[in-house]
Amino acid sequence: MAYDALFGKADRYIEQKTALDSEFELFEEEEKKAADAGDFMESSDSELREAFLNIEHEFDYERRNLEEQKGQTEQTREGLSAEAGRELQKLKEVQRKLDHLSGKKYAESTERASEKCREYMDQMEEMLRTLGEDVSLGNGGRADDKRAEETDTDLCPHIKDQEEALPSLDRASAFSAHEQKLGAKFVRSMQEVLDQSRHEDVRNIYEIYGSRLTIAKAHHLGGAYYQHGKGVCINTAAIALGGLAQKPYQAAFHEFGHNIDYLMGDGEPISEKWGNGALYEALQQDFADLKGELTDWKLVLKMNAEAVKNRWSLKETLALSDMIESFTGISNPLGSGHGKNYWKNRLPCREFFAEVLDGAAANEGSYALLKQMFPRGVEVVHRIIGGEAG
Ligand SMILES: [Zn+2]
Repeated sequence: MAYDALFGKADRYIEQKTALDSEFELFEEEEKKAADAGDFMESSDSELREAFLNIEHEFDYERRNLEEQKGQTEQTREGLSAEAGRELQKLKEVQRKLDHLSGKKYAESTERASEKCREYMDQMEEMLRTLGEDVSLGNGGRADDKRAEETDTDLCPHIKDQEEALPSLDRASAFSAHEQKLGAKFVRSMQEVLDQSRHEDVRNIYEIYGSRLTIAKAHHLGGAYYQHGKGVCINTAAIALGGLAQKPYQAAFHEFGHNIDYLMGDGEPISEKWGNGALYEALQQDFADLKGELTDWKLVLKMNAEAVKNRWSLKETLALSDMIESFTGISNPLGSGHGKNYWKNRLPCREFFAEVLDGAAANEGSYALLKQMFPRGVEVVHRIIGGEAG
């Protein structure tokens, strides 16, 4: 039936949520045991205490990692709620129209349709309740929420029409060409974020390449990604909200950044080939400076201490953490990353390129931290997007 896909998504969400909840529970039990053991260590010898400090750090990373997953799951939930809310709203509209028909010539088939409609409405309300939404007000969950307008164009042709009727921006947006797929609101908001960026060259590069991006999926459930030959797969509803580790719209600027990397390099990432690998060389030098005489683990501990001292948020450290992970092979060193296996047979250049761009466009704090730790690398990215011959 028509809503199978949506209900399937909700089921998968519930499964993920349940698994994550029990993981959290287990983690907290272990964390408590470790804390108990820690109290014992107080009087112990210094080497043991130091080893114990490492355990504590590992627990910290794990917690941040779990918190981040929790944030992502919450985004999925909100996306699903919005979608179910919209569907419910449409069903109500259909119901209203059917009500007008009743009593006329086609009473019997009207009644049948109406019954079916009510059945679907019940199911939709049930789903919304499962997702933790309050449907008692009878307003269809979040259907009145402004997010509801960022709709799935594949599923909701009607709402797409409404979006097209929205007044256009005063001037062309960098992403107007994708308004059909991304939705007018999303395109407009992306432009508003971009307009606030203080980096002219970054604003320009999105303006120049915006229309040439390939949007493969705008309502993809699961992690956002870019694949050369396929395009950008994102979930606009979730990205508009941002998350624990990313600002609103930042993830779209990130995936668009990957796409621009390949567009600028005519099908190969310019971040890797420009200036005979100048970006990789710069990043290696930056990392060598950062590390100094420290071992990888000591560097990671030092960075964590800095993070605590300076109160860096996950939003600020996501990109930095990713780069440290790439160079040290230690997973999620500052609470986030791709996981160390991601970097086997991969240079850091493509991620760095996209991270500089997404930060400069939508998360100045992330950009500033990258610039502080990898200044040569950031400089090379600016030279690449500035059009300097490499
Ligand atoms: Zn990426």
